[in-house]
Amino acid sequence: MHPDIVAISNVWQCDVRIDALKAEHEGLNRVIKAAEASLAAADAGLATAQAALAAAKTAERVNARELDSYTEKRAATREMINTGTAPDYAAAERQLANVIARIDTLETAGIELLDALEAAGEAVKSAERARKKALDDLAAGKAALAARDAPLRKELGEILPRREAAWEELHPELKPQYFDQRRKKKRALVNVVEKTCSACSTFVPPQVWLDTESGKEAHRCTGCGAWILP
Ligand SMILES: [Zn+2]
Repeated sequence: MHPDIVAISNVWQCDVRIDALKAEHEGLNRVIKAAEASLAAADAGLATAQAALAAAKTAERVNARELDSYTEKRAATREMINTGTAPDYAAAERQLANVIARIDTLETAGIELLDALEAAGEAVKSAERARKKALDDLAAGKAALAARDAPLRKELGEILPRREAAWEELHPELKPQYFDQRRKKKRALVNVVEKTCSACSTFVPPQVWLDTESGKEAHRCTGCGAWILP
């Protein structure tokens, strides 16, 4: 193998590993960020559900209180009618009819409010479950990062000086070329498969391949710029 290809390969291998370590670290952090966002959404959802439950409780209580008061009124009016103590019998009958009608309305409303109360209670439970899941996900994400953080940093700490040393071995002319290749997020090394570049499928002329194979010269793919591996 041409010494330039060996030197590039040494840097490239380090860079591939460094990229993978950084990507893993970023991935773990992304999971935590997503879990934090889910938790914030779950918190908001729970607060909304709790507010709705409180409102449903209040509405049900108000209705029940009014129903109690009308029930008492109905008993008192009946008592007056039955005992003949109503000052105006016809008026008392009318009042009783009105009170009964109001009680009907309040009872119907009461059933609906109880249904709403139950639904609001279920919504709170569901929001609490969502929040619990978000908390668990966040804890799992943090545990995953905690488990990998030190090993990732350790390996990165070991590989960076190796990369530095490999970089120093690179011919000065190759450095900007390699740097450019990385900047473009392209591979530094490619194989030749059936006379074409494995990355971009550009044709590799026979002479280029012969030079590469014999280690006589280091060539770059004319398509993607990567150095060709023998
Ligand atoms: Zn190519």
